[in-house]
Amino acid sequence: MNLILLGAPGAGKGTQAEVISEHLHIPTISTGNIIREALKSGTELGQKAKSFMDSGALVPDEIVIEIIKERLTEDDCQNGFILDGFPRTIPQAEALDRMGVQIDRVIDIEVADDVIARRVSGRRVCLACGATYHLDYKKSKVEGVCDKCGDTLVQRKDDHPDTVKERLQVYHDQTEPLKSYYEAAGKLKIVYGQEEVKDTSALVLAALEG
Ligand code: ADP
Ligand code: ZN
Repeated sequence: MNLILLGAPGAGKGTQAEVISEHLHIPTISTGNIIREALKSGTELGQKAKSFMDSGALVPDEIVIEIIKERLTEDDCQNGFILDGFPRTIPQAEALDRMGVQIDRVIDIEVADDVIARRVSGRRVCLACGATYHLDYKKSKVEGVCDKCGDTLVQRKDDHPDTVKERLQVYHDQTEPLKSYYEAAGKLKIVYGQEEVKDTSALVLAALEG
């Protein structure tokens, strides 16, 4: 199954992607994580992306399209994949169509802006393995330490409150139109984000069945 997860920054796409990934045994492809890894290892791609990302803007389409094109040719994608954070603009969705990639379903996770602002400020991430946590909703076993790899958890620069406002604006302007795009293609399923992660997961898994 080839899936796209849509939703505002902090709506819980990454968390739900992990759940689906375990359920269907298909990999999650997160453009955000790929870019952050490139940044950390100091590649040219990382340097190009840094200023856009830090300010809450989108990285230019041609860069992320190139990233996805390469990633989708890898062996682990041949039985399906979950796209988390791509496409984020109409031109990105059109590029995916042009590549001949068949999408089976698009799951949109809806969460109100004020809830997002609160959630994102408590988010902590592991830069070593990409795992995400939350100070209130998804605590690591030991505070500040990644459960999966033991590295130190940090707050992302773009999770700063002012930057979050900017990212929500960008989401409404550039990413939200994708809902109509995939609705028109008959692929959209809307899931309302719940207070408890597991309750949202139940709705997400149900949306995969129906
Ligand atoms: P979130 O879903 O919480 O916004 P991500 O990790 O998906 O976080 O993305 C973080 C940042 O990476 C975005 O704000 C943007 O700058 C960049 N980025 C990730 N995916 C894309 C994309 N498909 N197009 C453009 N920029 C992207
Ligand atoms: Zn880790």
